[in-house]
Amino acid sequence: MQKRLARADVPVDMTWDLTDLFASPALWEAEFAALDAALAELEPFRGTLGGSAATLARCLDAVEALRVRLVRLETFAYLRNAQDGTDPEHQAAFARMNALVARLAASVAFVDAETAALPDGTVERFLADDPALAAHRVPLERLLETKPHRLGAETEGVLASLGEVLGAPYMTYNRSKMSDIQFAPFTDAHGVTHPNSINLYESTYESHADASVRRGAWASFSAGLKAYNNTWAATLATEVRKNVALARLRGHESTEHYLLQPHQVPHRLYADILRVIRTELAPHMRRYAKLRRRVLGLDRLLHCDIKAPLDPEFEPHIPYETACETILASLEIMGPEYLGLMRAALGRRWVDRADNVGKSSGAFCSSPWGVHPFISMTWANTTRNVFTLAHELGHAGHFGLAMKQQRYVNTRPSMPFIEAPSIMNEMLLARHILAGGGDVRTRRGVIMQLLGTYHHNFVTHLLEAELQHRVYALAEAGQAVTATLLNRTKGEVLEAFWGDAVTIDDGARMTWMRQPHYYMGLYPYTYSVGLVVATAMARRVAEEGTTAVQRWLAVLKAGGTLKPLELMQLAGIDMSTPAPIHEAVAYVGSLVDELEAAFPG
Ligand SMILES: [Zn+2]
Repeated sequence: MQKRLARADVPVDMTWDLTDLFASPALWEAEFAALDAALAELEPFRGTLGGSAATLARCLDAVEALRVRLVRLETFAYLRNAQDGTDPEHQAAFARMNALVARLAASVAFVDAETAALPDGTVERFLADDPALAAHRVPLERLLETKPHRLGAETEGVLASLGEVLGAPYMTYNRSKMSDIQFAPFTDAHGVTHPNSINLYESTYESHADASVRRGAWASFSAGLKAYNNTWAATLATEVRKNVALARLRGHESTEHYLLQPHQVPHRLYADILRVIRTELAPHMRRYAKLRRRVLGLDRLLHCDIKAPLDPEFEPHIPYETACETILASLEIMGPEYLGLMRAALGRRWVDRADNVGKSSGAFCSSPWGVHPFISMTWANTTRNVFTLAHELGHAGHFGLAMKQQRYVNTRPSMPFIEAPSIMNEMLLARHILAGGGDVRTRRGVIMQLLGTYHHNFVTHLLEAELQHRVYALAEAGQAVTATLLNRTKGEVLEAFWGDAVTIDDGARMTWMRQPHYYMGLYPYTYSVGLVVATAMARRVAEEGTTAVQRWLAVLKAGGTLKPLELMQLAGIDMSTPAPIHEAVAYVGSLVDELEAAFPG
C-alpha cells in the first residue's frame, strides 16, 4: 500500500484554490477581527423593529450582510480543516470560528424574537407597504409560520440560553463515536490480521469481496458497538424525550409535526414516502438480495453481506480526466449555462481530490454565497468515485445557479429538496452510460452503482426513518426508550423489509448506533424525497428533452424562494399524490430485472 502524502506534498492541480475565498490567512485574520467588531452594529436596532417597515428592512439587510461575511470566513476555516485536520493552525482557526459563529447567533437572536413578537398583522402590513422588504418576504413568512408555536419571551429566552445543553445528546454521541469507541483487530480465513475502525469498516470491509474479511470485520465492529449499546441508547433516548417535550410545549399536533415544520412539507408526504417505499420496494430488494446470495455462492445472506461486490474482478481504472469528460458529456443535455458552470468547477480548481494525511473522509460540496462552490473528495479511480463527483457537481450546479439569481437569504430551499439536484446528476450519468450500450459487465457495473444509490437512500435511510417513526410513537405513548427497545425495534423494521432474503443478526439490530441522523430531527426520510424527484426528473429530461431541462433549470435558480412541493410542481412533478413514488419504485424493479438477466443462473 502506498504511503499517504503529507498535504504539502500533494500536486497543486489536485487541490482546490482557497485564494478565491481569502488571498492569505493574514487577510482571513483581518476580516475575522473586522466581523467580530461589526456585530455591535446590530445593537441600535434592538427594540426598534416594530417602528416601521424601513427600519425592519435595514436591520434584516444588516443581518444578511453579516451572515454573508460569516459564511465566507467560516468556509475558509472549514475547508482548511477538511483538507488537513492534523494541522494545529487549522484546528485552532476552526475552533475560533465556531466561537464567532456562536457570537453572531447570540447577536442576531433578538431579531427573530422581536419580529415574531410584533402584534398580529404588523409584518404582513409592512410587507404590503414597503418594497424594501420584498427580498425578505420568504424568510419572514417562514418566521410567521412558527408564530403560533412560539412561547412567551421569558420562556424562549430560557430555552435559548439552554441551547448548548439541549444539544448535549448529539455532542456526547459524537464525542464517544469519534474518540472513545475501539474495535478489536480480526483475523481472516487466510490468517491475516486486520485493524478495524468505523472508517475502515465503512470504506473497505463492508464491501470486501472476501466473505471471511467481511464477516470477521462485522463481528469485531458489532462487538465494538455492543460496548456502547446502553450509553448511546441513553443519549438517543434523551434526544427523543427532548423533542417530545418541546413539541408538546410548543403545542404541535405530534412530535413529527414539530420536527417537520422547518421542512415545509405536509405530514402526508412524509407518511406516503415511508409507507409506499417500504411496502412496494421490499419485493424488488429481496429479489436483489437473492440474486446476490446466488452469485456469491452463500447459503445465507447476512446483513453484513448486503454490500459485497458481485463482480469483484471487474473494477475499471478510471482516471480523473476521463471521468470529467464522461460527466460533462452526460450533462450536455442541461445546456450551455449549466455546462459552463460544470467546466468552471472542474477547470478552475473548485474540486479537491487529493488523498493526504488529515484529509476528511467522505465527500461534500460547500457553497459560500458570492464566491462559488467547493467540492471535497478523494480520488481512487473507481466507478463509485465518478458517481460521487457527479453527485457533488449536482450540488455545485444547484447552488452555483441559485446564488447568481438570489440574494443570500433566498438561496437555500428547505431540506427535503436538497438532495434532488445532486442525485439528478447521478441519474443523468447512469442514463448516459447505459444509453451508450456497452458490454454486459460495464452495464452491470453501472446498474449496481445505481442500485447502490437506491439502497443508500431508499433502504438504509428510509429504514432509519421508519425506526424514528416507531420510536417517537412509543415515546409519546410513555414507553421508556432503552437499548433493548431500540435493538428490538430496529430488528423488527429490518425483518419486515427483508423477509427471508437477509438474515438479521444482533449486529444488524444495533445498526441504529451508526448514524448521527437521529440527532438531526426527521432528516433520514429527506434522502428518499430527493431520490424520488431525481428519478422522475431524469426520466422527463430523457423523454421531453429541452422543455424539461428548462423547467429544471428554473427550479435550481429559484433557490429557496419556493417550498419543496412548489419546486417539484415547477419541475412538473406532482408530489401531492404518491404517483412519483410508485414510479421511482417501479424503476428500481426494472433495474433489478436487467441485473437478473445479466447474471444468468
Ligand atoms: Zn448530497
